[in-house]
Amino acid sequence: MIEVRDLKKHYGQTRAVDGVSFDVPPGQVLGFLGPNGAGKTTTMRMITCYLQPTAGSVLVDGLDVTTDALQVRKRIGYLPESAPLYNDMNVVDYLNYVTEIRQVEKGTRRAAVRNAVESCGLGSVINKNVGQLSSGYRQRVGLAQAIIHDPDILILDEPTRGLDPNQISEIRALIRQIGRQKTVIFSTHILQEVQAVCDRVMIIHEGKLVFDGSKED
Ligand code: ADP
Repeated sequence: MIEVRDLKKHYGQTRAVDGVSFDVPPGQVLGFLGPNGAGKTTTMRMITCYLQPTAGSVLVDGLDVTTDALQVRKRIGYLPESAPLYNDMNVVDYLNYVTEIRQVEKGTRRAAVRNAVESCGLGSVINKNVGQLSSGYRQRVGLAQAIIHDPDILILDEPTRGLDPNQISEIRALIRQIGRQKTVIFSTHILQEVQAVCDRVMIIHEGKLVFDGSKED
């Protein structure tokens, strides 16, 4: 589903990502682990077409992120480090808006919003303004916007950052549930998180992959 080959991103002298290669098969939940500054966000931004690689290639479902960016984006749901939310909109208006910008077919937009609301447990807050929600619910809205166009792939950048222990376990359960049907890459620097959620673990350090294997390994 995702093929990354010798991927590099350099910012001047900083080698944020320095020759990373890996494949992710369909249906896998991959934990992307590493300390702050290791290159996780930069790697994810290149897979999701938000950043152009300095060198190397990324294929998503066989499509090249540099030449087929629009098609790639259609296949990916992305939750960046800080969720792209509009605080002045209520949850249902915001999700309707996302179906429009995601070009979900008109006739299926209502169902798409309903599915995302159900999957992410947002039923009790759909009429609340996004700005009034707790951080846990905001993160759920962030997940809802990422899955609303029913992408095959989900890229989640530290989805539990800043949440309390209860909220963390709820978001992890959500990711596990979503991961039953989709290919998921999610980044974290918390080892237990990977143990709780993932099929496979990759560790990045100073822009290079230093481990790729099973949880048991
Ligand atoms: P992580 O997500 O693992 O915390 P990042 O991918 O955000 O790591 O950052 C990797 C490295 O690239 C860090 O040294 C960071 O300071 C640097 N970096 C990230 N974005 C930029 C940028 N826009 N300009 C310059 N350096 C950057």
